[in-house]
Amino acid sequence: MDHFELVEKLRERANVSYEDAKRALEILDRYGVGDAVCSKGVSWNVGRTFFRDSEVYNFNLLPQPDHKRPGMINLQQYYLEEFEITRAKELPNLDLRFKNKVLSVTPQGDGATLQVETPDGIYSLETDWLVVADGARSNIRRMMNLEMDGKVFMDRFLIADVVMKADFPVERWFWFDPPFHKGQSVLLHREADNVYRIDFQLGWQADPEEEKKPENVIPRIKAMLGEQLTLPEPVWTKVNLSWIAFFVVMGFLNLIIAFNFPTDIWVNYKLFGGMGLMLVFVLGQGFLLSKYVE
Ligand SMILES: Cc1cc2nc3c(=O)[nH]c(=O)nc-3n(C[C@H](O)[C@H](O)[C@H](O)COP(=O)(O)OP(=O)(O)OC[C@H]3O[C@@H](n4cnc5c(N)ncnc54)[C@H](O)[C@@H]3O)c2cc1C
Repeated sequence: MDHFELVEKLRERANVSYEDAKRALEILDRYGVGDAVCSKGVSWNVGRTFFRDSEVYNFNLLPQPDHKRPGMINLQQYYLEEFEITRAKELPNLDLRFKNKVLSVTPQGDGATLQVETPDGIYSLETDWLVVADGARSNIRRMMNLEMDGKVFMDRFLIADVVMKADFPVERWFWFDPPFHKGQSVLLHREADNVYRIDFQLGWQADPEEEKKPENVIPRIKAMLGEQLTLPEPVWTKVNLSWIAFFVVMGFLNLIIAFNFPTDIWVNYKLFGGMGLMLVFVLGQGFLLSKYVE
């Protein structure tokens, strides 16, 4: 796929995603959880795609001024479920039954009869309408011989939710073949409560049990986010003062050598001496600061 085709495909994907997200927010609005979802969720409009180090594509889903909702909302699934359950309990004609599993469906006339398993036993339920929403691997659909066309991508992903305070803009970032995760893709999304969701593509051969181990997860995250240097305020002040002092001393040393020694010694000092002292100073600081690197 050349660069032009890739950008076109990304543009198509962005438009489809926007339409899907808009529809989802409209539906949530209609059944009364749109406000809760939008106030807790992180809204974003800008997506950026990188190939290695370079940005190759970006899009802005900024809705029209008359749009009620933002382009996209990122929200953890447990929050969405909590808002939906709270709302469902308010509705008098909605009966929410946990731990009820549909065992069988028998079409009958214009409706259907279900066998439902609960911790207290099995009961049967007659219904005029049955709306099935039991997921991508729907058993109920299989029971009714309803085929679903779909594509299975032979791939594996490591999904890491990292809680951190960071200055990343609220945007969706996607990398192909980034320097920190060679040959694969990475997706970064911000969610509520300072959670950053990072999806690392691992390839089909990856061993899920091995990849889940902290000693394998943490280096991947560190390679992406870099080493975080968090210094207490007094240490920062010392670092700043030591740099000021170093340059003042270097300035005086330069004047002393320039005015008290032959020119070739001064030239040698400028070429090698100053650089050597700088190197020693930087290495010394690195050694002292290394204990603050997380
Ligand atoms: C690891 C992972 C990460 C993901 N990350 C994202 C993401 O970041 N963003 C995103 O948009 N999507 C993500 N997805 C996809 C998203 O979770 C699904 O698209 C979404 O949950 C599908 O919703 P659903 O209601 O169709 O099905 P499900 O969420 O699968 O819900 C189906 C429900 O039906 C119940 N059920 C099943 N069989 C029966 C039965 N016989 N009787 C009664 N109940 C039954 C199940 O218990 C379940 O509660 C992710 C998926 C996975 C697995």
